[in-house]
Amino acid sequence: MSGKSRFIMFTIAGDELDRLEEFLQQHAGCAEDVFGGRYEFSFFPCDHGVPKEVTCICGQKLYLEPPLD
Ligand SMILES: [Zn+2]
Repeated sequence: MSGKSRFIMFTIAGDELDRLEEFLQQHAGCAEDVFGGRYEFSFFPCDHGVPKEVTCICGQKLYLEPPLD
């Protein structure tokens, strides 16, 4: 092993998961890329949690924002 590495993960649960599953269902028919992938996940850790953005290969985006409480 050489170099530094860092394992970063995030959780999608509750309302966010419902919205994600709905989005994935709506885009289940979209074309896949050559690797069989269809979605790109981006996330932006901040003080309030981890806002996430899911982009389908068709260009549509779903933005999931953590609740501000
Ligand atoms: Zn799509």
